[in-house]
Amino acid sequence: MKVEKNSDVMPPISGSSTLSSKLDRLVQTGELFEQVDKETVRCYACGHYCLIKKGKRGICQIRFNHNGELKVPWGYVAALHNDPTEKKPFYHVFPGSSTMTFGMLGCDLHCPYCQNWDISQALRDSRAGYTPKEISPEQIVALAKQSHSRCIASSYNEPLITSEWAKAIFQLAKREGFTCLYVSNGNVTREVLEYLQQHVDGFNIDLKTMQDKNYRKLGAVLERILEGIRMTFQMGFWLEIVTLIVPGFNDSETEIREIARFIKSISPTIPWHVTAFHPDYKMTSPPPTPPRTIIRAAEIGYEEGLRYVYGGNLPGGVRQFENTYCPGCHKPVIERVGYRILRNVLHEGGFCPYCEMKIDGLLD
Ligand code: SF4
Repeated sequence: MKVEKNSDVMPPISGSSTLSSKLDRLVQTGELFEQVDKETVRCYACGHYCLIKKGKRGICQIRFNHNGELKVPWGYVAALHNDPTEKKPFYHVFPGSSTMTFGMLGCDLHCPYCQNWDISQALRDSRAGYTPKEISPEQIVALAKQSHSRCIASSYNEPLITSEWAKAIFQLAKREGFTCLYVSNGNVTREVLEYLQQHVDGFNIDLKTMQDKNYRKLGAVLERILEGIRMTFQMGFWLEIVTLIVPGFNDSETEIREIARFIKSISPTIPWHVTAFHPDYKMTSPPPTPPRTIIRAAEIGYEEGLRYVYGGNLPGGVRQFENTYCPGCHKPVIERVGYRILRNVLHEGGFCPYCEMKIDGLLD
């Protein structure tokens, strides 16, 4: 997860049972499930495909079976902020634009280094949780218009598990001309992608490791994430991948190269962001990722044939790896420091001004 605390995050609420009773009122009947029998449902909003009996909750804790129907989060945000689109990170979606970003509570994974754990681990960890602020889709879209956002994104917590709410917002947003985005862990299903196909333009997916044993520690299965990434690309969503490089977890040259090769095997046009870890939540012993590791990871990405590789979370500290280079003539076409665009020389439609090659992405 990728958000810094800011003033638009709602105040903390203590005690998961207080929060749970509040959230259980902010629901409606879901759409991403099938009735298995009178009392049992199967949710397919994420790759866990939870079988949920009457009165029970799914793994994410926020979708639950009430009298044989799946109830899903509705009508609130736990965080809402107009961020640079680069911060999501999307570097190939209207560079320099801003994105109205909303998040609810909960996640289907439990990464010990989550930077948004107080939002994502609500209902799992009694220290986590924010007061939900009730809001309508119309109000979110109106705020995006007032803020001159170009895009609207579901992020901060895992968007897949609150997809019905995102769809309600994005349906309105698309009519107003917004580009709609998901910042996800990639634990997708074919059903959720088909559900979102008309409403979501782009995904940013975390590819956290190539080791199944490590993915299982976070609550996911490697092959499902890899298949989810393939499916997302093949179904035509704009896709960018991010890998948080954590010392001792996924920072070996072999693993970094394996990730780059996997992305290339889908398409060299997929931008890859290698970002620096800082100690957070339950993972406090590894040191912050040194800039040289991020620079080396970015070099490996280019060596393996990816067209666009970026170093992140170290503004000004990763040499040239914050810039976009034309894959045709290798000249810089967008120069950045952190989320700030210093220079963008792309021609209308995203064409390189030097060799006229089209740069990949949602640029026009
Ligand atoms: S969204 Fe929640 S309830 Fe649905 S499959 Fe995933 S973890 Fe289970």
